[in-house]
Amino acid sequence: MDYPTHMNRLIPRLASSYAFHFALQDLVKLSISQDPIVRRKTETIAAGLKSKTSWFATETIQICREACGGKGYLVENQFAALKADSDIFTTFEGDNTVLMQLVAKGVLTQFKQSLHDDNTRAVLSFIFKKLGHTISEYNPINKRNTDFYHLTSYDFIEETIHYRHEKLLMSLSDRIRKYLKRRIDTLQVMLKTQIHMVDMADAYIDDITIVQFRKALSTSVQPQLMNILTKLYQLYGLTTIYQHRGWYLENDYMDGSQSKAIRKIITKLIQDIRPYVDTLVDAFGIPDELLAAPIALQPYS
Ligand SMILES: Cc1cc2nc3c(=O)[nH]c(=O)nc-3n(C[C@H](O)[C@H](O)[C@H](O)COP(=O)(O)OP(=O)(O)OC[C@H]3O[C@@H](n4cnc5c(N)ncnc54)[C@H](O)[C@@H]3O)c2cc1C
Repeated sequence: MDYPTHMNRLIPRLASSYAFHFALQDLVKLSISQDPIVRRKTETIAAGLKSKTSWFATETIQICREACGGKGYLVENQFAALKADSDIFTTFEGDNTVLMQLVAKGVLTQFKQSLHDDNTRAVLSFIFKKLGHTISEYNPINKRNTDFYHLTSYDFIEETIHYRHEKLLMSLSDRIRKYLKRRIDTLQVMLKTQIHMVDMADAYIDDITIVQFRKALSTSVQPQLMNILTKLYQLYGLTTIYQHRGWYLENDYMDGSQSKAIRKIITKLIQDIRPYVDTLVDAFGIPDELLAAPIALQPYS
């Protein structure tokens, strides 16, 4: 674990495991509701989280396997069996790419409904949001700010992740509206916008996940755990933003110096979290008899 490349490959994934854990816990709570609007939202989030977490699990098992070298390939160390199990989750109960289109349709329907329900206010808020996007894109101070406290703040992380979702949603609905106005057949509209739809769905689930992580920090975390869990939150948030740095740069939301500063902060957070890795993994409480793999049962500090 002390190789920087090992830390870099594994510790952000530990942070993502916590993020998905909190998002899934909230989904379980939502699933109890009988309210039809909440139920539709629950279906949308469930489809998105199923896709994101099964892709994440499959990639993570491969990365863990490689991190263990040839021993990772031994049958007794279980990676092959874990991968065979998780791999099929990306297809059954609905192929992930198909499910992400379901998520996009759900989000578009909610958006259309919100404009329909409360016409004037919703349309005004839509215009203000579009204006807000223009202001943030052309605000040179925001996009060049490399201050550590600014970049690790809840506000920066949440606004930046939310911005991607909202901008993709608005540009997608604009495109669909224009195609429909030109009387283009709905199947063709779907095909023309399919990649945009899947990207928007991905951004929506990132947005839901970061919000639930923050909510868990403010409601259910013991005060002595706040410091380390806040670092995990920052690492998850900044890694998510950094993964999409190409998009933010293309959209003029950040400049190269800010993206570079985020990369440096990610490295620092990984080092800060390193001493707590054993505890953070043990906290999932997976019993030894389920781990079973000899490599997982050896002391790993
Ligand atoms: C091990 C296993 C166990 C299963 N158990 C059950 C079971 O117990 N009960 C049951 O009912 N079913 C079961 N299934 C079936 C499973 O639910 C389906 O395989 C799954 O829903 C995906 O459907 P599909 O295989 O038809 O693939 P498809 O949905 O046809 O997907 C094939 C490929 O085409 C792409 N694709 C399809 N449609 C689109 C589109 N509109 N736009 C873009 N790309 C598209 C997908 O992304 C994917 O890459 C099982 C499958 C497996 C492999």
